[in-house]
Amino acid sequence: MNDGPHVDLQTGRAHGARIYDYILGGKDNYAVDRAAAEATLQIWPALPVHMRANREFMHRAGRYLATECGIDQFLDVGTGIPTSPNLHEVVQEVRPESRVVYTDNDPIVLVHARALMSSTEQGRTAYVDADLRAPDTILDSPEFRETLDPNRPIGLMLIAIAHFIEDDEEALTATRRIVDVLPSGSYLAATIATDDFAPETLAGVRRTYREHGETLRFRTKAQAARFFEGLDLVDPGLVQMHKWRPDTTPQANDADIAMYAAVARKP
Ligand code: SAH
Repeated sequence: MNDGPHVDLQTGRAHGARIYDYILGGKDNYAVDRAAAEATLQIWPALPVHMRANREFMHRAGRYLATECGIDQFLDVGTGIPTSPNLHEVVQEVRPESRVVYTDNDPIVLVHARALMSSTEQGRTAYVDADLRAPDTILDSPEFRETLDPNRPIGLMLIAIAHFIEDDEEALTATRRIVDVLPSGSYLAATIATDDFAPETLAGVRRTYREHGETLRFRTKAQAARFFEGLDLVDPGLVQMHKWRPDTTPQANDADIAMYAAVARKP
């Protein structure tokens, strides 16, 4: 952790990225993050099931876009602490020439961004330290402009990020701003947190996160659907993420999966 840029890691409060890292078995987390994770596990023992299902959806959606939709350029906003395989590893396995721009606003992700740079020779990756709520800082960044061709379809990945933006209009406006500049034939893949399947448990989870300094916003299916307005959902539409084109019959209980997921094409 001493070899990265000098940044304030805000170790006095829990960060979603580091709680997620801890649950996924990573080492890039602090006492407050582990305390938040352990307290959440008491309330919701299925937290690791849920978080692994999210990561697996990201893998399936990336592979689907590369394999079935011919997408070889990606903008991944809310990248998180690198956990292999990362998006570029998944899509470059299918299309080695793939280019991926990663973005996150958490300083700890910036510190570990080098691990996201292990691109194939033919492909390319870049990292932008930016906030989804200020989408033009992403779109105007040299990394975005120099890495991706704006005239060819792009896969926009918003995986497990929307629940960190409490205000619906702010989250939707930012998403639409990016989608608006993407060419026809681009895709949005997203997971949107919900408490539809275990409201009482998730109320406890939100309280626990807040006590440790991190806020969460859960959305209904109708609220989640708004992120995809104007786009054409691919089969099976907006579903709990473990039910989106699973590789095998999903084993998880619905109550353990607190995310909707979808992939949609810009007409
Ligand atoms: N997409 C990854 C990681 C999800 S964790 C995956 O699904 O596996 C969510 C990430 O979103 C965290 O790293 C957090 O720092 C980031 N994030 C939260 N709010 C953000 C914002 N407003 N702008 C950019 N990144 C944000």
